[in-house]
Amino acid sequence: MPGSAPLVAVIGGGQLARMMAEPAAALGIPLRLLAEAPGVSAAQVIVDQQVGDHTDLADLRSVTAGAAVVTFDHEHVPTAHLRALAGDGVAVRPGPDALVHAQDKGVMRERLGALGVPCPRHAIVASVADVEAFGFPCVLKTTRGGYDGKGVWVVRSADDVPGPLATAEANGVRLLAEELVDFRRELSALVVRAPSGQAAAYPVVESVQRDGVCHEVVAPAPGLDPALATHAQEVALRVAGELDVTGVLAVELFETADGRILVNELAMRPHNTGHWTQDGAVTSQFENHLRAVLDLPLGSPAPRERWTVMVNILGAPEGPEGAGQPGRLYDGYPHAMARDPRLRVHLYGKDLRPGRKVGHVNAYGDDLDDCLERARHAAAWFRGDLGNESE
Ligand code: ADP
Repeated sequence: MPGSAPLVAVIGGGQLARMMAEPAAALGIPLRLLAEAPGVSAAQVIVDQQVGDHTDLADLRSVTAGAAVVTFDHEHVPTAHLRALAGDGVAVRPGPDALVHAQDKGVMRERLGALGVPCPRHAIVASVADVEAFGFPCVLKTTRGGYDGKGVWVVRSADDVPGPLATAEANGVRLLAEELVDFRRELSALVVRAPSGQAAAYPVVESVQRDGVCHEVVAPAPGLDPALATHAQEVALRVAGELDVTGVLAVELFETADGRILVNELAMRPHNTGHWTQDGAVTSQFENHLRAVLDLPLGSPAPRERWTVMVNILGAPEGPEGAGQPGRLYDGYPHAMARDPRLRVHLYGKDLRPGRKVGHVNAYGDDLDDCLERARHAAAWFRGDLGNESE
């Protein structure tokens, strides 16, 4: 059909794919989803869908048949399968040679080191003696398969090492040792890059993690030295260019106590530290990801408001019987909406479970403290940390 938009296949049915569907609808771009199970988050909103396994080449071929581009909700598709899809003539974005740096922390450290990008001191380790030679305390990480702090251990003596070594061996992956960085806070520099080479950088944000999970993001990072912010954006743009990333690249950073930045890790897909852009930037990371993978001109990453605060809604941890409130999603709307008509709520169609990310809220405005209070209150309300008396 002349003038019809190309089909974009999306692998993985989580909330990131779900949130790509909103700008895709607005721009009239058809999406086809490979969902891991019926009814998962993105499968609730993307009509053209198949249920299958992202490690099965036949399933990947089936969902990409007729698609111009394939992109991802997660980074877990095996490299050999991505090469096979590229061989079939589908544009794989980001491509396998870029994506490996988001899949394997060992490969990422080696490459960034070679590029002279500032990273924590690091080494691949294979024995207790190797870790002793590296020095305590340090951080051990499995090179593949970790997420949300799983597969990351702070070790302080030789006694702490056998557990992580055994986990790495059981999973058939390498173990990376890193210096324990004395960081002031965590930052994220999010950029988007198209195959044409056009790129855009969002303002650098502060992200607050608890137990390895992102809880809160403030855009832009309060009090960040403008020269350091520019340096962080330059590092992210350089990494995107050198690694030939297409789509969103999130560069997670440590701001050290002595005012430097060090790269922690890379994500090549829309990222939790970019959810604020849905309501706080001219063009959201989800729209710019779609534009980039289709090699369309990118939209402005400029902020719309002085401050935007994003707070995740996480299922409350399991407590003693009868402790706290059970948490509420749709049932929380009347209070949250009446209290704060400017609040933006994004739920992912997931049931509340302890520690699970089920949604987020964005609050924006001129006053940072006001934005923090509004977003934190709403997230706590949905999570069930506030009782009815707190209205
Ligand atoms: P994941 O892949 O699970 O997100 P990360 O490598 O981002 O794992 O580590 C999770 C968290 O652990 C980070 O957000 C940070 O708080 C802490 N961390 C990771 N590496 C280091 C380090 N070298 N020094 C200090 N803290 C670290």
